Amino acid sequence: MMNFDDQDGQIWYDGALRPWRDVDLHVLTHGLHYGSCVFEGERVYNNRVFKLREHTERLIRSADVLGFEIPYSLEQIEQATLETVRSQGYADAYVRPVAWRGSEMMGVSAQQAKIHLAIAVWEWPSYFSPEARMKGIKLKWAPWKRPSPECAPVHAKAAGLYMICTLSKHDAEADGFDDALMLDWRGQLAETTGANLFLVMDGVIHTPTPDCFLDGITRRSVMALARARGYEIIERAIMPGELKKADEVFVTGTAAEVTPVGQIGDMSFTVGPVTQSLLEDYDKLVRAPDPASSTAA
Ligand code: PMP
Repeated sequence: MMNFDDQDGQIWYDGALRPWRDVDLHVLTHGLHYGSCVFEGERVYNNRVFKLREHTERLIRSADVLGFEIPYSLEQIEQATLETVRSQGYADAYVRPVAWRGSEMMGVSAQQAKIHLAIAVWEWPSYFSPEARMKGIKLKWAPWKRPSPECAPVHAKAAGLYMICTLSKHDAEADGFDDALMLDWRGQLAETTGANLFLVMDGVIHTPTPDCFLDGITRRSVMALARARGYEIIERAIMPGELKKADEVFVTGTAAEVTPVGQIGDMSFTVGPVTQSLLEDYDKLVRAPDPASSTAA
């Protein structure tokens, strides 16, 4: 198994690239104890970080939601990301920027704690197995629900929000499923533990309104691709009972890309033409030359 603290290469940490194995963190770190930590997940295709600007903006916004300011500008974070990608030397990779409150203060209040930023890059070919992606992934109903916006900072990509995702994904995996599908606090369809959800019904694409979970960057890219193909897209509250009427189901995310869903609980779905065409369009889009792109090569 790949051990994440024992790799060759370098991690960008608080202003400079440092040898991977030398990057360390004190156990009395506020981000670890109290969840004051935000992060991003980005992908590199052909030496280019796809949607780097959007991801970097979201990282800064997520920190702002948690009440702290990352001590680097948008441009500095982008440059640091490209520098790290270049130094790791993978043409295709996954990028993980993470920002957190440090160890200067220990307690719920940590107004003076230093804000840290690290960026790590590693190879991560496919989030789900190639067989699962071909036949569609199997989703188990999650035992946890996405909280209301009054109960958690739901629009931040904040570490603490993943507590119920890890619990739900472990529960699904224990029963032989690939992932878990979460409802929100109202009982409406929400998302999986790391990707947004789409349903195809009679040629129209439906997706839950992201009012209590992440409005994914991939979600928005795929919606634009679908509109370019002439599909109608309806964002709305969707109840789980409506899945019975769905011809196709798929999920989207930076790590998951466009992944068909083959099963939810005891319901089965086939991988259909809408999913297949959007999967191919997305694969083309992420590898398309883009004049305004962020190339690390
Ligand atoms: N929801 C959750 C909980 C996620 O972790 C992710 C992955 N970041 C997404 C949705 C999809 O977001 P994006 O397309 O921006 O990667």
